[in-house]
Amino acid sequence: MTKTLLRPKMPEQDPKERIHNFEEVPLGYSEEMAQIEANRCLQCADPKCINGCPVNIDIPGFIKLIKEKEYRKAIEYIKEFNILPAICGRVCPQEIQCEQACILGKKKEPIAIGALERFIADWERENSLKACPDCQPPNNIKVAIIGSGPASLTCAADLARKGYEVTIFEALHKGGGVLVYGIPEFRLPKEIVREEIETLEMLGVKIEYNKIIGKILTIDDLREMGYKAFFIGVGAGLPIMLTMPGLNLNGVVTANEFLTRANLMKAYKFPEYDTPINVGRIVTVIGGGNVALDSARVALRLGAEKVIVVYRRSEEEMPARRAEYHHALEEGIEFQFLTNPIEIIGDDLSNVRELKVIKMKLGELDDSGRRRPLPIENSQYLIPTDMVILAIGTRANPILTRTLPKLKTTKSGYIETDEFGRTNIEDIFAGGDIVTGSATVISAMGAGRMAAKAIDEYLNS
Ligand code: FAD
Ligand code: SF4
Repeated sequence: MTKTLLRPKMPEQDPKERIHNFEEVPLGYSEEMAQIEANRCLQCADPKCINGCPVNIDIPGFIKLIKEKEYRKAIEYIKEFNILPAICGRVCPQEIQCEQACILGKKKEPIAIGALERFIADWERENSLKACPDCQPPNNIKVAIIGSGPASLTCAADLARKGYEVTIFEALHKGGGVLVYGIPEFRLPKEIVREEIETLEMLGVKIEYNKIIGKILTIDDLREMGYKAFFIGVGAGLPIMLTMPGLNLNGVVTANEFLTRANLMKAYKFPEYDTPINVGRIVTVIGGGNVALDSARVALRLGAEKVIVVYRRSEEEMPARRAEYHHALEEGIEFQFLTNPIEIIGDDLSNVRELKVIKMKLGELDDSGRRRPLPIENSQYLIPTDMVILAIGTRANPILTRTLPKLKTTKSGYIETDEFGRTNIEDIFAGGDIVTGSATVISAMGAGRMAAKAIDEYLNS
């Protein structure tokens, strides 16, 4: 195989076509591309990429197996470290993790680790080779997992493989957390999440849907039902609101509500699903993270003629993944940086008509280490708009924690744990966004894995 310094470019759906559908944008590597890329890996003696991965996947190990065309062994091997490779291969921010640490990035392009991870997971699915991972014999000890996001799925899988009788209690009618209700179909097809959940079911994990713990049942109820340990992985899904006039107008929504209606309730499949969203002609999204960009790209696909993202800091500080920003630009999304909203203006029928904004400049560093945006006097202007989507972040939802008054939480309501997910209550463990605040899929999975180890130790002690 000829060596090249550059990674093969992943084929993508044409922007002109994809803005009219919800199908996946990047189409994945062919076998030939995966071989070129796997052959580019230097198999370093001291592989820096592994340190860059939050769950320390043996990256050169699985790439070597791809290079040798031992695809089955490669997928089995990667799953020893990460049970959701098809998901992580698509949504992990590899460019600031493993790929940023890859030695090849110093001179040319780093290895496309995410693309290879996705290739091998898709290969398994396309060839219908999914097998039930090995498990220890059942030990009849019941463990309850609250929530079904990536932290919970990982914790549940690890415990089930150790022989525990695991039940997941999920508030919604589908499993996967943000993977199903937040991240849109064109970035992460829901079929993939469903199949990953099927693997859990193959492991014997039971999932109880429509069960809000803290409302329908409490942890005390679950104790009485015979559960011996609890993992709380309820995420941080409560939207943060801005304080400005006009928030109650028709056409103002939070990104959470908007994305949930689009993804979980399948608004984009109207009339097949009777939950349409009328986005109007112009949509303005406030924020600069993945959630803001996902909302903007969904609004475009739902028929908006113009979508504007308003972000109060500069382009360089925008936290969204660069690949998604690039995709959004290709699709014609407009960005107004260093711009802050101050008022939403409606018409006589209380429908949104305009967003009043002010231009900003960057000042001194703030607590987050970024330059603080400051308003520029007399720089207000109006953006005509039919819908305003608020995507400025989320925080901990207190539904469950307020039923556990003895559980230690931070001032902002996040659960306090040690690095193994242990809380101050000995049979309760926690991990993912409910501990760290909004983070990433892979960090939530890492936390789920650590907690599974700690739960196993606790139940054996
Ligand atoms: P979640 O995924 O939030 O899951 C929590 C689950 O708990 C939910 O299903 C919820 O319904 C359930 N629940 C809540 N309360 C209760 C209760 N009381 N009882 C029972 N169940 C309950 N990360 C990336 O790495 N890459 C990306 O590209 C990316 N894009 C994102 C896009 C969007 C729109 C959003 C919102 C987030 C994105 N993230 C991304 C962040 C990532 O998805 C989260 O960090 C991750 O999902 C957190 O996992 P978790 O398991 O902690 O919780
Ligand atoms: Fe391969 Fe890059 Fe890891 Fe080296 S650092 S083993 S080149 S992926």
